[in-house]
Amino acid sequence: MIYNVTIKQTVNTNLLKHLIREDGQEDLCFALYNIGTSKTKTIGLITEIILPEKGDRNVHGNVSFNHVYFDRVIKIALQKKKGIVFIHSHPCLGWQSMSMDDINTEKMLAPRVKAVTGKSLLGMTLGTDGSWSARFWNKTKPKTYERIWCQSVKVVGKSFSITYDDRQTPPPIFDKQFIRTISAWGNKKQADISRLKVGIVGIGSVGSQIAESLLRTGIQDIYLIDFDIVKLKNLDRLHGINKENIGYLKSDTYSKKLNEYKLLPSQKIHTIPYSIVEEAGLNAALDCDIIFCCVDRPWPRFVLNCIAYAYMIPVIDGGIDASFSKKSNNLEQARWRTYTSNPERRCMKCMGQYSPEDVSLEQSGMLEDQNYIKGLSKDHFLNRGENVYAFSMGLAGLQMQQFLSLVLTPKGVYYGAKEMDFTTGNIDSDFKFNCQSNCEFSAMIAIGDDIKGSLIANHQVAQESRANALYYDNTKKTTLLKSLFRNVLSLFSA
Ligand SMILES: [Zn+2]
Ligand SMILES: [Zn+2]
Repeated sequence: MIYNVTIKQTVNTNLLKHLIREDGQEDLCFALYNIGTSKTKTIGLITEIILPEKGDRNVHGNVSFNHVYFDRVIKIALQKKKGIVFIHSHPCLGWQSMSMDDINTEKMLAPRVKAVTGKSLLGMTLGTDGSWSARFWNKTKPKTYERIWCQSVKVVGKSFSITYDDRQTPPPIFDKQFIRTISAWGNKKQADISRLKVGIVGIGSVGSQIAESLLRTGIQDIYLIDFDIVKLKNLDRLHGINKENIGYLKSDTYSKKLNEYKLLPSQKIHTIPYSIVEEAGLNAALDCDIIFCCVDRPWPRFVLNCIAYAYMIPVIDGGIDASFSKKSNNLEQARWRTYTSNPERRCMKCMGQYSPEDVSLEQSGMLEDQNYIKGLSKDHFLNRGENVYAFSMGLAGLQMQQFLSLVLTPKGVYYGAKEMDFTTGNIDSDFKFNCQSNCEFSAMIAIGDDIKGSLIANHQVAQESRANALYYDNTKKTTLLKSLFRNVLSLFSA
């Protein structure tokens, strides 16, 4: 099990304001957390700070707190059914280790916190440069509490920052093949970016280009989440694909390709042939630090929107809208838009990227019903397929720029949504940052696993897709029937 912590940016700003003192002394406070879990990862999601009041702690010499403060924290945590975080600061830089005093204090707190809240104590230390370190104190045997260091602590908001425990995930060693990339933003940023776990949901015309771009940026862990099969009609838009790949899963196909292109042996491509609404797909997404949304269906977009807020994982969404004009017998218009959704940024629903009604329709299976589709208007998104490789390149480029802007934030500038208007050649960026006032996703911030069960469902199309797919791995035997299916499929797609 890997452990992480995520803090919302405004909460982080308040923590820094309280803990980094002008007089250089150490300080402390408590906070509350919720839990988010995947199969391999536990995330502590910080929800709020409980600052000390006058007389609650003594900052001279070794900072300490009194029992009145701790009792108040316990009471609030119980009321809100949350875990307790004990936080203190060090006048040093980077990921902090612990002094004997630190260990003794947290060892003393761990059983009391567990007894009252039922949850492990989360201990955190802040360095003067804003770097964090964190550990959970898990009960392993009666009266025995084991300290388990987190792998990283993330701060998510208008920008994104991360502190790693270098002992657990040392920065990769970059050879000469990355010289140009590293010379653009330096070793420190490259070490931060490359250790991010990045997911792509939908490995189509845009997702496939983003996948290769991430590989060549040096990302160590890339998750390809897609249950769909390569079809003949995809060939004009899928990067690096030919007829040989028809009938195979897109995730599997690109995993094979990226493995051939790998620049470092330490780079890992994770193949996830599942929908994001299936348990395995959702768990893979929750393993990621940042997710690219490259699907145009409402249901997965809704699930990704929930993940962006409940688990505070930034989702970089993109979409293309193009149309043909019968009157002029030419392209009518084409626009592609990208933006990042997470706490303190506008959500996908408020951006108008999907409608809740369409989510319900897709969940009910209606969007697969041929009779229903026939009855829809010609410009309904299901009936529209206008897209070309060059537009996908444009969008993939814009989405990668969102990613780099988020993690590099050069000159402290963060930018919001961007929309390319192909007709005029302009890039519009006049979009609101915040959600609408009644948005339910703002209330979902950091709730973690409270929402998980409601997001998982059976996905028949995904199940059929996996059952009918061809596999490169011979152990998943390609049957005669499947080869037949592939040929029939390519005929129909034509
Ligand atoms: Zn300390
Ligand atoms: Zn919203």
